Amino acid sequence: MSNNNWKYCNDYTNYSRFFTREVNIGDIALGGNNPIRIQSMTTTNTMDTIATVEQTIRMVESGCEYVRITAPSKLVAINLGEIKKELRKRGYNVPLIADIHYTPNAAEVAARLIEKVRVNPGNYADKKKFKQIDYTNSEYNAELDRIREKFSPLVKVCKEYGTAIRIGTNHGSLSDRILSRYGDTPLGMVESAMEFLRICEDLNYHNIVLSMKASNPKVMVNAYRLLVNQMMGSGMNYPLHLGVTEAGDGEDGRIKSAAGIGTLLEDGLGDTIRVSLTEDPEFEAPVAKVLADRYSKRGKTVKLPKMDKIEVNPFEYKRRKTFKTANVGGNEVPRVIANLSNFDDIKPSHLFPFGYVYNVKDDKWTIQDVSVDYIYVGDQSLSFDIPGTLGIIQNRSEWEAKDSHYPVYEFGDDIDSSGLCFVEAKTEEIAGEEFELPPNAVLILTSTHDHGMPDYRRIFNQLLSDNINNPVIVKRGYIGLTDDVFQLHASTDFGALLIDGLSDGVWVDSDLPSQRVMATIFGFFQATRTRISKTEYISCPSCGRTLFDLQETTQMIRSRTSHLKGVKIGIMGCIVNGPGEMADADYGYVGSGVGKITLYKGQEVVEKAIPSEEAVDKLIDLIREYGDWVEE
Ligand code: SF4
Repeated sequence: MSNNNWKYCNDYTNYSRFFTREVNIGDIALGGNNPIRIQSMTTTNTMDTIATVEQTIRMVESGCEYVRITAPSKLVAINLGEIKKELRKRGYNVPLIADIHYTPNAAEVAARLIEKVRVNPGNYADKKKFKQIDYTNSEYNAELDRIREKFSPLVKVCKEYGTAIRIGTNHGSLSDRILSRYGDTPLGMVESAMEFLRICEDLNYHNIVLSMKASNPKVMVNAYRLLVNQMMGSGMNYPLHLGVTEAGDGEDGRIKSAAGIGTLLEDGLGDTIRVSLTEDPEFEAPVAKVLADRYSKRGKTVKLPKMDKIEVNPFEYKRRKTFKTANVGGNEVPRVIANLSNFDDIKPSHLFPFGYVYNVKDDKWTIQDVSVDYIYVGDQSLSFDIPGTLGIIQNRSEWEAKDSHYPVYEFGDDIDSSGLCFVEAKTEEIAGEEFELPPNAVLILTSTHDHGMPDYRRIFNQLLSDNINNPVIVKRGYIGLTDDVFQLHASTDFGALLIDGLSDGVWVDSDLPSQRVMATIFGFFQATRTRISKTEYISCPSCGRTLFDLQETTQMIRSRTSHLKGVKIGIMGCIVNGPGEMADADYGYVGSGVGKITLYKGQEVVEKAIPSEEAVDKLIDLIREYGDWVEE
């Protein structure tokens, strides 16, 4: 596909929401000119009507506009009607959504009782066999006929009852048929939804919402963009439900969600959001709301010049090629610059929050995994020996040309140093300008524009089109924000650039405590898998299928393994969807029965039905056996 065919949003620089058709879900319409809707999913047993009703009410009170409930069988689907009745009796009209995997009969029951049904095209008509089968064209077409036969009855019921359908593709649960032809790719995800969408269109049914979720934000962003590109090409405009699956808990879950969901919202994509956290579901809506609210006034801010074409393939991750100068650019991990110039007299203790701790007794610096690479000191010089891995950036006029000291120039200055140096420029100074920098220069790019990410992106676009290959550090200030808002906004802005392979480092100015800022920076590096500094947990948010206490177990596993930098551990509540959803985990801990756990190495089962009290120890033994264990 050439870059003339890469269109996936209305406008690359100015905020413009992709206009989708309005879909009615009970009394609350989605898409069109409606605000971005917030939703979440219950974690109670669906057969426990009162517990599910009470959790739903807590979710509504926290901001949920739709509530999804799992319906793993026909019997459970029937109970959705009871849940709805009880909610209406208590004065809550929130539209309900049935979550369906493998059970068309449950879907057809639910579609008669509640407002929307979510189907997973990877498992609605297929049983996963984890086999790579080669299909001939006629076999493939026969499979499509089989899907049509299984799915059409649901579409007809939904048409009759005015029920909406979400065709919700998950990266981790693509059918063997899709995997055999398209692989584990964004294109496979899109085609998986398209197979079902074509059936709906043939039956003249359009009350449809689409999603393309993955636990890796890069894959998820690429898939949604490709879906919109294909919809644009075929004159479709179905609303989009955005989400990152198995994002995890706490700070990691929030940052990963912001990087994935926020990146799409920046380009005007998304009509409803579900943030999936391994926490009680009432904690999800407030996070989703912060993400969505950022765009309520975005279209009214000062406009940036239009960009006709993008130079970065929006459907495939590829890092921008840059010169490597010292440890910046090329294939180096993104670097971090901290600003210490505001301190009058910089002391060793000022480095502590930035990952460097000085031990007076041993006269040694300890460097942590989460540590900055450079500090900017302005006109100052330091009166103490710095750790060997740290670089000092000084204003050109005060630069001391000695080891680990580097000058920063203003844009347009003559560059008179031959080693690593920095050039600071505002986006508006560079936009549209023809310029050249020597290969030893790293650009520090600043924007204060409200629509900041696209402002940086247009400069990257210009650099790509002009073949300027100097590394770029993206600098942005976040002042006067709460910790939560800062975390989500910064993870969106930087996450979006990193997901597109742009940026060789970051400089974040903030009035929040430096440790918080550092945690966010290394969090969005981890979420975008551009710089790994900790263990990654791919844990499901839990639902009515969950077979153990996910929050408690995740904490327990975390407390034993959080020092295993770069290891990915999947913690999944059930064996029905868990193995697929943790597709790229190195190890898997999956509920397979009441009090029983199955352990995985990658996608391979290692041991089944382990009593849960022994399972964490066995997981650690497994990690040891495969050589990924290190002592703390
Ligand atoms: S993996 Fe988790 S969230 Fe997904 S269906 Fe199973 S228990 Fe529910």
